[in-house]
Amino acid sequence: MNIDDTPVLDNHLHLDPVNGRNVAAAEEFAAQGGTHLLVLNKPSWHLVEKATDEAIFREVFDLTVEAAAEATDVLDGRTWPVLGVHPALISKLVDDGYTPSEARDIMQTGLDVAAEYVADGEALAMKSGRPHYDVDDAIWAASNEVMCHGFERAADVGCAIQLHTEGGEDFEDVAQWAEKRGLDRTQVVKHYSGGRLRGPVKSVLADKDELEIAVESDEPFLMETDYIDDPDRPGAVLGPKTVPRRVRWLLENGHEEAVRTAHVETPKAVYGIDTEATLDR
Ligand SMILES: [Zn+2]
Repeated sequence: MNIDDTPVLDNHLHLDPVNGRNVAAAEEFAAQGGTHLLVLNKPSWHLVEKATDEAIFREVFDLTVEAAAEATDVLDGRTWPVLGVHPALISKLVDDGYTPSEARDIMQTGLDVAAEYVADGEALAMKSGRPHYDVDDAIWAASNEVMCHGFERAADVGCAIQLHTEGGEDFEDVAQWAEKRGLDRTQVVKHYSGGRLRGPVKSVLADKDELEIAVESDEPFLMETDYIDDPDRPGAVLGPKTVPRRVRWLLENGHEEAVRTAHVETPKAVYGIDTEATLDR
């Protein structure tokens, strides 16, 4: 089996139609054998001054929906938008003078709008989470409330949710919070995960060591770069070629089954997408 025999999905990548390379990044991905992309909206403050109301969230989401549609044109497969609110927005808002609960309300509004895009068929899934850096108790509590609101809305509209969180391997409690709100843990994805994870489904950063761990664990997993498409930070993250390159490497090492897990079966189980039926080479 070689790379042309399988769909290749990057589960978490950003395209920035305002400042970034945008479609050119998707072309680079495709040239290496990549076929499908989940395109995440950039943090709202990168694209517009500050997201504090519904209209601004819509502006950010519309840009992503449009960028994803344009990128589909250069792929043999397709893209799907994933929309939500970056957890670090809470710190930006608090720095601007909002209380943590006011910031929470604003971010929950953003998630309501994201859920609406999913319900309308314009987006595939949602994104939420909590800060990956130390924050005070009030901000931490508010962030967890935002994330749990995300679980509720994802359960309402029947979609999966990607989480941006602190590092670590045990997120059993987070998976239970989701389930308490009606969202199965198999629809909760920890983005930027290592190869080992308890609780949600892992979206493993395409690093060889972590992928090896994921392959050995024999559990569902996804692969991602978290490419940020930011011209000011080239090389800050993995580039768009990385997932196809790692797929090639996995295949060379005889991990056909793991490739199928990450690029066909887990995407189907988590998002209900069919990466094979949507591939036309
Ligand atoms: Zn990201």
